[in-house]
Amino acid sequence: MGVRAVSDNGCIAEKLLGWYAQARRDLPWRRTRDPYCIWVSEIMLQQTRVETVKAYYHRFLLRLPDVRALADAPEQDVLKLWEGLGYYSRARNMQRAARMIVSQCDGVFPPSYEALLTLPGIGAYTAGAVASIAFGLPTPAVDGNVKRVAARVFGIRAPINSKPAQAMVAQTLTAILQTCDAGQFNQALMELGATLCAPRAPQCDACPLCSLCDASREGDAESLPMQAAKQPPKTLDMGVCILTWDGRTLLLRRQERLLHGLYVFWLAEGDTDAYGLKGLLQEEGLRATHRAALGEATHVFTHRIWRMTLHHFLLDAPPSAAWLAAHDAVLADARDIRALPLPTAMKAARQEALALLENGLV
Ligand code: SF4
Repeated sequence: MGVRAVSDNGCIAEKLLGWYAQARRDLPWRRTRDPYCIWVSEIMLQQTRVETVKAYYHRFLLRLPDVRALADAPEQDVLKLWEGLGYYSRARNMQRAARMIVSQCDGVFPPSYEALLTLPGIGAYTAGAVASIAFGLPTPAVDGNVKRVAARVFGIRAPINSKPAQAMVAQTLTAILQTCDAGQFNQALMELGATLCAPRAPQCDACPLCSLCDASREGDAESLPMQAAKQPPKTLDMGVCILTWDGRTLLLRRQERLLHGLYVFWLAEGDTDAYGLKGLLQEEGLRATHRAALGEATHVFTHRIWRMTLHHFLLDAPPSAAWLAAHDAVLADARDIRALPLPTAMKAARQEALALLENGLV
């Protein structure tokens, strides 16, 4: 890893900002410096594509236009607005952060990187993005795109998440940010990573940084950034039971950390055949008759994969009110299924359940 001369830093800012001024995409969150709106967009964009986020962003801000509205909203409403975006802890953390801002800062967004970092769900990237874009502070905002561009331009040939590589990215970017409009520069870097400096086949000929880019000069852009060897996600076999009674189906609110607070069908890890699932249901006080196997579905989380086998069981009797309360469960009709927040992992089961309920097969 080399050290870049200070004069190069000025050139990088000038060339990148010049390019950004004419090439940038017109995105809704780029028309504001309101920290709340920028925060919402940054959290949504963390794991989700720009085109998908646009619709969610508008809907979210229409219903929850400021930090007080988010703090006051029922959690279920927030999760419903988030439905389909996945990684629901983002939405829950946003609401916790909004409540802290209201109770501790009188509803005013803290205008410093360090203070932003103390809020739930705000890590170095988001704090850097909000601090620079909304408040003009020279704080780097290093997401995957920025890591890739930085590794290539500065010629960082060490695993990009290693301490030395991270320190070099942070130091070099901070030095550049002190010489220019920090918010614009951070966004320009992200834009370059999202457009010309793609993971595969970067368009170096069209890139404003071509003459300053180490990887372009060395011809190894596609092999950067370097990654340390990763653990593959673990695959779990899951049995998913659509349990029906009199035109309704059982939904349970997850208590586990993964998908916490969202509604799922009754499910069991490890057991996927009807006989084993029937026994597990009985152990939980639910007597039911197997009606049909409904096929398989797969959902990939960050660290695990659920390989789900779907079954339809007819309950022999409805669960008691005490059972439902103890398990944070409801008997839901088709309208309830559409209204309650269900995770994307339940998409296939949800479709099967709606088909069963709406075709009167229960
Ligand atoms: S010159 Fe190529 S590798 Fe370097 S930043 Fe531009 S697009 Fe990326």
